[in-house]
Amino acid sequence: MSKPVCYSTKAFSTVSATASLGATSIERRTPTAGDVQIQILYCGVCHSDLHYARNEWNFTQYPAVPGHEIVGRVTAVGSGVKKFKVGETVGVGCLVDSCRTCPDCRSGLEQFCTGMTMTYGGMEKQLNRPTLGGYAQSIVVTEEFVLRMPANLNPAAAAPLLCAGITTYSPMRHWKVGPGQKVGIVGLGGLGHMGVKFARAFGAHVVLFTTSPKKVEDAKRLGAHEVVLSTDDAQMAAHAGSFDFILDAVSASHDINAYLNQLKHDGNLVLVGAPEKPLPVAAFPLLFRRRSLSGSLIGGLPETQEMLDFCGQHNITCDIEMIRMDQINEAYERMLKSDVKYRFVIDMASLV
Ligand code: NAP
Ligand code: ZN
Ligand code: ZN
Repeated sequence: MSKPVCYSTKAFSTVSATASLGATSIERRTPTAGDVQIQILYCGVCHSDLHYARNEWNFTQYPAVPGHEIVGRVTAVGSGVKKFKVGETVGVGCLVDSCRTCPDCRSGLEQFCTGMTMTYGGMEKQLNRPTLGGYAQSIVVTEEFVLRMPANLNPAAAAPLLCAGITTYSPMRHWKVGPGQKVGIVGLGGLGHMGVKFARAFGAHVVLFTTSPKKVEDAKRLGAHEVVLSTDDAQMAAHAGSFDFILDAVSASHDINAYLNQLKHDGNLVLVGAPEKPLPVAAFPLLFRRRSLSGSLIGGLPETQEMLDFCGQHNITCDIEMIRMDQINEAYERMLKSDVKYRFVIDMASLV
């Protein structure tokens, strides 16, 4: 494959784990036959962006451009593109490519493909260089990894569905969350607030666990039937052994055993949070009552489209706070203090 020629686009990047993000110019490939070129209108700010920018998972390639909750407008399509036209509003999430041939790819589970390419932190095959994410004015993505955005949703408020949305939707669908179940969501951040909305939409009895007393009222407005302050032992004890399913969306070290003890027999705790350090797991909370601990990673392309369509039908979007691109460093600091309601979204028009 010959290397496509490139064009420049403005972006925000970081050069080391301790540096701030700042304005830069990056190269994108010009669209090849199967590519869609997208002018980025909005990009959500996921806690994974922060983990990655600061090399907390030890695989960051610098200079790094984070961002994988991308909504934009199609500005050009390659000659072979069938699904999209110039002018349409589209989305791009955490994946921009995969091998397309393995059993996972063939069953729409591209997130488990060993040859998948992440939107940032992966390797762009066409240019043989690290992928650069959505904190940028434009991106070029192969059409199979571009998603349709429901026309009735506010595009800025829909952007975080591309990661926070699918990451909470997918495990709840996989483990069949529904009516008659008591479901816990741990942490009211970007993922957690979407977890609350989906669990409610699926008909479960929803309980939010939070460390932040000031989020109690918001959690109820977002759809939680009950809110437990996890720092209050009496409140935790009142729910012990009563949950069918718990989604843990915490970004930092915390006591996971306290949540395993909230499950009833055969209950399942799904970890979607990806803290920097390993979480110690005690044996007894798992042994007693035959409880399970599992994990889940975003979702495949077909399920991401299904989730977007579901959100369109049920009018579900994220609660967002819009920021300018140059406020990103401050936004990261606020995210670390759990001070986000409930997802920052960058207005890319501010990147000039
Ligand atoms: P976020 O918006 O920062 O939310 C994290 C929430 O965790 C906070 O709002 C806070 O909720 C709680 N929290 C933070 N520090 C805590 C601590 N020390 N102890 C207890 N609770 C704490 O982050 P996010 O964007 O939702 O992402 C959450 C995690 O999921 C990150 O690690 C991210 O990398 C990961 N992630 C995983 C996937 C996947 O595919 N599995 C996809 C996307 C993101 P309260 O204030 O309510 O306590
Ligand atoms: Zn994410
Ligand atoms: Zn594959």
